[in-house]
Amino acid sequence: MLRIAVPNKGRLKDPTIALLRDAGLRFEQTERSLSAPVRNADIELLFVRADDIPEMVRDGVADAGITGADLLAEFDDGLVVLEELGFGRCDLAAAVPAGSDFDKLEDLQGRRVATSHPTITRRFFADRNLDVSVIPLKGSVEVAPKLGVADAIVDLVSTGSTLLVNGLRPIGTLLRSQAVLIARATNPDVEQIALALHAVTAGRGKRYLLLNAPAVAAADIAAIIPGMDAPTVVPLSDPAKVAIHSVVAADEVWSVLPALRAAGGHDILVLRIEQLIS
Ligand code: AMP
Repeated sequence: MLRIAVPNKGRLKDPTIALLRDAGLRFEQTERSLSAPVRNADIELLFVRADDIPEMVRDGVADAGITGADLLAEFDDGLVVLEELGFGRCDLAAAVPAGSDFDKLEDLQGRRVATSHPTITRRFFADRNLDVSVIPLKGSVEVAPKLGVADAIVDLVSTGSTLLVNGLRPIGTLLRSQAVLIARATNPDVEQIALALHAVTAGRGKRYLLLNAPAVAAADIAAIIPGMDAPTVVPLSDPAKVAIHSVVAADEVWSVLPALRAAGGHDILVLRIEQLIS
C-alpha cells in the first residue's frame, strides 16, 4: 500500500485533487476526510496541511506527497522532487514599502526582513554575504513593515495584488515555486505515480490539432506544425486533399492558426490531450 500525502485545504488542494483524478485515480473526498482509499489502485491518500507534508514524507508516514516547492525548500531535509506539477506557481519575493528607496535585494543589507519562510530567507542572504536580520512570522507577513516590525518582507507573490493593497513594492525574487511531487528517494512505486502525474501535466501543455488542406500544401503545413516526430498526413477520399494531424504546444496554438490558414489549412480542430507519455 502506497500512501500519498495531499493538501487538505488552501490553494493547492483543489488542483491536486483534480490532477489525481485526471491521472485516473478513483477516490471519494469529503471536507472532513483525513484519508481515503483509492478504489482502483493499492494507494491511500492522506489529507493533511501542505506545510506538514515534507515532514510526513521524511518520517515515513507517507511514501510520497504533493506540496509547494517553497515548503519543501523551507523544510530543507534532503527529500527529492519527482515531478514538477505545473500549478500553484508563485514567487517567493522580497518587497518593501512603496515609498522607500530600496531597489534591489542588496539594499536590504543590515535591515530587518519579516517572513514565514525564514530558512530560505536566511540561506539566500547568507549565500550572498548580506547581513539581514530575519524575523520569522506565521502569518500576515505583509503588515510587518506598517507595524514597524520589519523594513521589508519576503513572501509568496503570484499576482502582486496583495502587495499593492498593502502599499508594498517587490524588489527581487528569492525562489520560484510550484506544486511538486516529493518522496524520500526514488523507487519503482513512487516512480509509477510520478509517471502517471507526468502524463497528465505533459498532456495539459499540448493540443492535438487536426485540419484539412490541399495535398500540395502538406509540406508547407508540416513545416509550421512539425509535431512530436512528424505530423500525420492522411489521404482523403478526394485525392486533391489531405488531413493533417499534429501536436502543438498549448500556448502556441493561437499563434500558428493564421499561418495554417494562410498555407491553405481549413476545418481546423484543436483538441485537449488527456495524457501524454513520450
Ligand atoms: P495554503 O497556505 O494552504 O493556501 O498553501 C500555500 C501554498 O500554496 C504555498 O506554500 C505555495 O506553494 C502555494 N501558493 C501558490 N500561490 C500562492 C500565493 N499567491 N500565495 C501563497 N501561496 C501560494
